[in-house]
Amino acid sequence: MSRSAGWLLGVVLVLATAPAAAPGTGVADRVFVNGRVWTGEPTRPMVEAIAVRGTKILALGPSMVMRMLVGKGTEVLDLRGRFVAPGFIDAHMHLLGGGLSLEELRLDEVETLPEVLKRIGEWAGTHPDRHWVTGEGWTYAAFPGGLPTRAPLDAVVVERPAWLVSYEGHTGWANTLALKLAGVTRETADPPNGLIVRDANGDATGALKEDAMDLVARLVPKPLPHEKGRALKRGLVQLAAWGLTSVQQAGLEEEELELLARVLEEEGPTVRVYAALAIARDPTPETLAHQDQLRRRFSSGRLRVGAVKGYVDGVVEAKTAAMFEPYPGGGTGLLNWTQEELDRTVTAYDRAGWQVMLHAIGDRGIDMALTAFERAARTNGTVGRRHRVEHVEVPRLADLPRFKAAGVVASTQALFPYPNRNHLEVYVPTLGPERAHRALAFKAIDDAGAVQAFGSDWPVFTAEVVRGLHTAVTRTTLAGTPAGGWEPAQRLTAEAALRHFTRDAALAAHEEKEKGTLAPGKLADLVVLSQDLLSVAPDRIKDTKVLLTVLGGQDSWRAKEF
Ligand SMILES: [Zn+2]
Repeated sequence: MSRSAGWLLGVVLVLATAPAAAPGTGVADRVFVNGRVWTGEPTRPMVEAIAVRGTKILALGPSMVMRMLVGKGTEVLDLRGRFVAPGFIDAHMHLLGGGLSLEELRLDEVETLPEVLKRIGEWAGTHPDRHWVTGEGWTYAAFPGGLPTRAPLDAVVVERPAWLVSYEGHTGWANTLALKLAGVTRETADPPNGLIVRDANGDATGALKEDAMDLVARLVPKPLPHEKGRALKRGLVQLAAWGLTSVQQAGLEEEELELLARVLEEEGPTVRVYAALAIARDPTPETLAHQDQLRRRFSSGRLRVGAVKGYVDGVVEAKTAAMFEPYPGGGTGLLNWTQEELDRTVTAYDRAGWQVMLHAIGDRGIDMALTAFERAARTNGTVGRRHRVEHVEVPRLADLPRFKAAGVVASTQALFPYPNRNHLEVYVPTLGPERAHRALAFKAIDDAGAVQAFGSDWPVFTAEVVRGLHTAVTRTTLAGTPAGGWEPAQRLTAEAALRHFTRDAALAAHEEKEKGTLAPGKLADLVVLSQDLLSVAPDRIKDTKVLLTVLGGQDSWRAKEF
């Protein structure tokens, strides 16, 4: 049997199960022809054309064969050789924070203190109506000694309180007025799981870590509901422009869930959302019943609730990620739970059928999360819950096989090894050489057979998938430094990186039957790109443009040039 005859037979088989078409209207609603379509399906990785009916893929194959599905009402789109992939899926982000970040002062790409201060001064000048000067995204490397202090901030924000949050959200920077309003004095004790950084006299320097951030953060005016709604809408549109068709929300409050549901309903096609609620410590039967109600209410459509999310530890730069061995200068990080507490809570959620997502970054935190998952499965006799460790930054290499053995998903962030100054001058030295060597070890995680799902942690890093792919494949900055990449043994192939942003991210949300690859019967969620990610030189991946994003057969984003 010739190849094309095989395809024909496939089409006939698919059509046999498809609903009958009205006479003269053709069978497909849309047909994409003449593409280089990477399906993500191992048995048929590359095809030329896709036929869509309604929200789903009807058939895939050679353009000639797919054209047979064209009728009077069918839209035919000539891809002219463009590369097509399954719609991108981001396995870890914060939608509202991301949306809000599009409208706020951002300090992400600013690498020196004078430049940081200049940006803050400018923003303060152009926002005289704001009672607080706020912003986010600063990196530790911008400050001498690795931590900001209030004095230089006092010099640029004089009569208003100022509060600026670090890029990963675990340290805040206050000016003197903000500390005063918060009532922080020499006598103020560190809150549990938090640290007020102090000078030699015991006075607060302006840097507040982890839960000590609340001292000031609770005073900052919260965005109003209409501002949140606007930010979400802006965020959703931006995500579609980056080629995303699904995102996974790493924890949210109920109010935000309701808002998100409303915005998704009002908007046209943008993205699908899989959401995790905030985990409750030792959840009562009432709490579990209430969360279950939300899960049932949001069980289909573009918004699904399926997980709960909690934090085991902190982050590396703030030395709050929980480690077995001390950081240079001392301390082994902060743990938000004892092992027993964590086991109890995870076991309760596991029994109630929830997927549990645990933020764990240090080797000790990761071990604790894995232990809790293993024990829950054993206690309850459950399989296939696909609990997740979020970030998995500095695992012991010996712990990696536990992911596969326990069916735990490694939810990592493709841009986290982005080797900018902050990474090389703060992150790496904070870990020390032995730990840095096994940090963000994407290849080792793959080699251990784990399901590795990529995300962004937006707004910690941009959710621009092309940037994430570039970093995972090259381990260099956009400028190509350091030459050869940081810890180059952990570079991935473009195909592996793509898989983590598509099929594996779908697996991480129990959604692989509907999405993550392109196959008949799956959702017609796909992205058309300006160049072939599988053949372009790695250092050119960054130049890839998203030309078209399709969600359930409908355009959610179309570039002007396409
Ligand atoms: Zn996060």
